[in-house]
Amino acid sequence: MSNPEPATSGAVAKDTQVGSVFVSNYPPYSFWTEDALSAVHEALASPPRPGVPLGLYVHIPFCRKRCKFCYFRVYTDKNASQVEEYITAVNREADLYRSQPALARRAVDFVYFGGGTPSFISVKHLRQLVEGLRQRFDWSQLREFAFECEPGTLTRSKLEAIREIGVTRLSLGVEHFDDRILAENGRAHVSKEIYRVLPWIREMGFPQLNIDLISGLVGESWETWKATIEKALEISPDSVTIYQLELPYNTVYSKAKLEGDGGPDVADWKTKREWHAYAIDRMQECGYETSSAYTLVKKGSKDPFIYRDSLWEGADLLPLGVSSFGHLSGVHFQNQASWKGYLESVGAGDLPLSRAFKTTVGERLTRELILQLKRGYLALEPLSEKFSVNVKERYRTAFEALQKKHWLEMEDGQVRLTRPGLLRVDQLLPTFYEEKYRGARYT
Ligand code: SF4
Repeated sequence: MSNPEPATSGAVAKDTQVGSVFVSNYPPYSFWTEDALSAVHEALASPPRPGVPLGLYVHIPFCRKRCKFCYFRVYTDKNASQVEEYITAVNREADLYRSQPALARRAVDFVYFGGGTPSFISVKHLRQLVEGLRQRFDWSQLREFAFECEPGTLTRSKLEAIREIGVTRLSLGVEHFDDRILAENGRAHVSKEIYRVLPWIREMGFPQLNIDLISGLVGESWETWKATIEKALEISPDSVTIYQLELPYNTVYSKAKLEGDGGPDVADWKTKREWHAYAIDRMQECGYETSSAYTLVKKGSKDPFIYRDSLWEGADLLPLGVSSFGHLSGVHFQNQASWKGYLESVGAGDLPLSRAFKTTVGERLTRELILQLKRGYLALEPLSEKFSVNVKERYRTAFEALQKKHWLEMEDGQVRLTRPGLLRVDQLLPTFYEEKYRGARYT
C-alpha cells in the first residue's frame, strides 16, 4: 500500500485510493506478529508502570446492517442466544485478566464501548455485561464511560438503561442527515430515527453528546453537505466528530473498486477537505472550536474526551472482545479476529490473543507524537521531558519537510498544524515514521 499523499515524496494522489487509512496506532498493524505474544504475557506478569492510567475497551461486534464503507469486525447475522454467548465470553475474558500482576488492584480510569454497535444489544445483555465487568474491575475512580450508538437501535427504555449503567459520553453515529445518502452508503438508520431519540437523550441528561459525521459519502454534493451541517448545528451537540471517507481494504466499496468495475464514485481528497473545511468554518461561526483534526466542541467546554486523550498520551488499554486492540506496558496486542477462534480460546481458559508488538522507547515516542499531533498542536517540552530526548532535534527533518509544504508551523516551543495540514493529518503523519515502516501496508 502507498499512502494517498505521501508527504515525503512530493507525489500527490488526488483520488481516494483503496488502502487509504485513518492512523490510529504506531508501528503499523501489519508489523504485529504472533511470535511477539510472549511479550504480552511478560507485561501481564510484571507490575504496572507507575502513574499510567488504565482503560477498558469493549468491542460489541453486532450491527443491523453492514455499511459499505465499514472496515470493522462486525456481524449482522447473530441471534439473541449468540449475543448472550458473546457477553458471557467477554466477562470470562475479563476474569482471565483480573488477577494478573499488571492489572490487579488497579482502578479503571475510563471505559469505551465501541463496535460494531454497542446499542444493538438488549437491556438485559447490557446490564449483564456491565455488572460482570464492575465485579471484575474497580470502577470506583471511573472518569468517563463512552458508548457508541446507532440511532435506529435505541428505544427509550434502552437509553434509560444506558444512562443507568453510568454512560457519560454518548456518541451517536449520525454520519449524514440525508436519507438518500444514508441508504446509498448502506446505513441501517434513517434520519427520522435520529430525531426520535434526541429528546430522550436530552431529557435523560447525558453529560456529553457527540455526533459523528462523514465528509465524502457516496452521493454527497455541496448542497447535501451544507444541509447536513445546518442540521447538525440545529441539534447543538456538545461535540461533532467529522471523518473524511477513507477506503481501507476490506470495505464493500474497496472490494468493488479492486474488482475492476470502477466501483463507487468517491469524492477526491481535495473535495472532501473542502467540505470538511466548510464544516469547521461554519461551526466556528456558531460557537464551536476545534479540539482535534476531527472534533469540534462547544467553545469554552471543559469536558475532555478522556479515552482519546489518554490513549494519545500512552495510557494502558485492556481490550475485551473479538478483534479488540490494546496496549499494556509498551506492548501492543490484538485479540483473535474470528468469532469461533475468540469464543474457543476464552472457553478453554486462554487469553484470546492473536498478534502483538513490543515497542521500543523510540517507537513509543513516535506513537505519542503522531497521535498528539492530531490535536493540531504539539507541546514539545512535556514530550521531550517524558522521553528524555530533544524532540525538536530528533524529528527536525520531518518538521522541516512539513514546514516547507506549509502544513506545519513552529513557534515558541510549540508545533502547530496549519489548516491545510490539519485537514490531511492522516496523510502527513508517515513523515515521522521510521524508514522501515513507511510505505508499508498499514493493516
Ligand atoms: S454501524 Fe458502524 S460498525 Fe456497524 S457496519 Fe456501520 S460503520 Fe461498521
